[in-house]
Amino acid sequence: MGELDRSARILVAGSGGLVGSAVVRALRGAGFTDVVGARSAQVDLRDASAAREFVAGVDPVAVVDAAARVGGIAANAARPVEFLHDNLRIQANLLDAAAGAGAGRFLFLGSSCIYPKFAEQPIREDSLLTGPLEATNDAYAVAKIAGIMGVQSYRREYGLPWVSAMPTNLYGPGDNFDLESSHVLPALMRKFHEATVRGDARVTVWGTGTPRREFLHVDDLAAACVHLLDVYDDPSPINVGTGEDVTIAELAALVARTVGFTGEIVYDTSRPDGTPRKVLDVSRITATGWKPRIGLAEGLASTYRWYLDNYVSGEGATA
Ligand code: GDP
Repeated sequence: MGELDRSARILVAGSGGLVGSAVVRALRGAGFTDVVGARSAQVDLRDASAAREFVAGVDPVAVVDAAARVGGIAANAARPVEFLHDNLRIQANLLDAAAGAGAGRFLFLGSSCIYPKFAEQPIREDSLLTGPLEATNDAYAVAKIAGIMGVQSYRREYGLPWVSAMPTNLYGPGDNFDLESSHVLPALMRKFHEATVRGDARVTVWGTGTPRREFLHVDDLAAACVHLLDVYDDPSPINVGTGEDVTIAELAALVARTVGFTGEIVYDTSRPDGTPRKVLDVSRITATGWKPRIGLAEGLASTYRWYLDNYVSGEGATA
């Protein structure tokens, strides 16, 4: 796979989101001079003709698909219809529109929840479709598995060098800090921050605190995306993570320390734990020459600064 021409037009679908905005930053930082974003407010990719018209107008050489309906454990459990249908539509429309526009490269982004609930840990790419999924996000996972199949089908039928990458749990600037729909890390950051400001004695963390999760800073993922566009050409999805995990209780303690919360942490076991452990085997991507650079403590500190600057005083608080 030859390195992509830095003047080639790259379309980043979902450029208003956590991942898409980071991918735009990383592409520009890597010297790409013609990066075009697509935000949900600009084009509704769930609409096939709108997607086709938009992508044909951009006429990209490569497409990064970071457009998706995403959310944490509660949002996935509450709204499986939207997580299934919106994601199936967005990705099918985008794949179809990219093929129609003659895009030579396509990078589809999935999620580590595509792997079986009881997959051997760390999770290798070849464990895909070897067992039942975690029930709290199976609708989202099935949609993302269909996206991987979409990429593989375009490869097989049209001979296109399109690829899929599966990031682990992500966090960073631009994250969703809504307490019901977000993932654990931004939720805990906001809970600890607000408890500290109010002087609360305790903060409630969902579940038992024992599930293990791996956290990757979104700027590390974005750097991996740029790297994969240059070097990766294989039908198998490729994992993107750190290969290291922590318990939710350990994460809570780290976030409390970052924020300066010194009160008590209590667990609400009426909330679901989800899958017991989710840590990716990253040996394939490591072998291609990429590795993460931002450690969890450092990433938490910079994300907290972003939260204070952009969310607490900014429009995010009312969005
Ligand atoms: P998952 O990785 O798909 O399970 O998604 P989440 O990031 O939403 O949740 C990860 C784990 O963190 C689960 O065991 C949750 O129960 C736990 N957790 C603890 N407190 C919270 C919280 O305030 N919000 C969320 N979303 N998860 C929490």
